[in-house]
Amino acid sequence: MKFTSLARECRVTSGRHFRLADHDPANTDGIAGKKEAVEALAKGVARMDELQERLYAQNRWSVLIILQAMDAAGKDSAIEHVMSGLNPQGCEVYSFKSPSAEELDHDFLWRCTCRLPRRGRIGIFNRSYYEETLVVKVHPELLGVQKLPPVLVTKDIWDQRYEDIRSFERHLARNGTVVLKFFLHVSREEQRRRFLARLEEPAKHWKFSAADLAERARWDDYMAAYEETIRQTATKEAPWHVVPADHKWFTRLVIAEAINARLEQLDLAFPELPAAEQKKLKAARAALSGEKS
Ligand code: ATP
Ligand code: MG
Repeated sequence: MKFTSLARECRVTSGRHFRLADHDPANTDGIAGKKEAVEALAKGVARMDELQERLYAQNRWSVLIILQAMDAAGKDSAIEHVMSGLNPQGCEVYSFKSPSAEELDHDFLWRCTCRLPRRGRIGIFNRSYYEETLVVKVHPELLGVQKLPPVLVTKDIWDQRYEDIRSFERHLARNGTVVLKFFLHVSREEQRRRFLARLEEPAKHWKFSAADLAERARWDDYMAAYEETIRQTATKEAPWHVVPADHKWFTRLVIAEAINARLEQLDLAFPELPAAEQKKLKAARAALSGEKS
């Protein structure tokens, strides 16, 4: 089926040969255009809703969806469109900003650990502990506010963080949390267009901050940090998906497809009641049917 191949195309399960240059942000292969994508997304969202209901009822697996990207790549709108059919009761979104004073009093995984989805739930991280090998690597001065004992801050710190993240995700996988990571890969030129559009439209001004331009100026450093992060942390149990993000309709479809493809692999089913409980249901049915209305 062609939509499943969309997910497969962008999935990275081993970083060994990974190069960002091999991934085109403007790619829309396999989909004729926006109309087809919107229709396919609607079907994907409906299917995700069915799968989520089972996930919730079964209460065994949990799903962690991590979204990382440069500004204006479409994280927020992807969350809005892809998750629009989900039951809010079984789904939580959390956006990670610059760490607070309390968060800086703990190790870098702590704040994310506190927000992990419980069994039966889908948790969405809008940014995550991956900021630690992205923005913090591009701005190593940020390490200075992390209150680490100086003797622990060495040139090995990034390799140690990759290793800790890999171990953390393996731990999650071994305990029933399915980890799916998405890098929304937007081009520099498309980001420029979107920033300009934000500046031209008063309703979008709040989305723009002057600091966004300073980060944009470090584009190449960010791309190098993303490439290395994906190389180091793409694994079978916690794959990255490098999603072309210059066309939002394509981005959303690929994300929905990748989530569904993984959910379909799980043994999701409504729990079956043991015979004794079935008997009780039968009795309840008989009692209710016999009641006078
Ligand atoms: P939008 O796309 O709407 O701008 P956003 O996710 O960029 O949303 P902002 O409030 O603009 O939200 O930015 C959050 C900022 O917090 C980002 O610049 C991000 O790099 C930064 N941040 C997140 N985690 C960390 C961290 N661990 N250390 C330092 N900075 C972080
Ligand atoms: Mg921002």
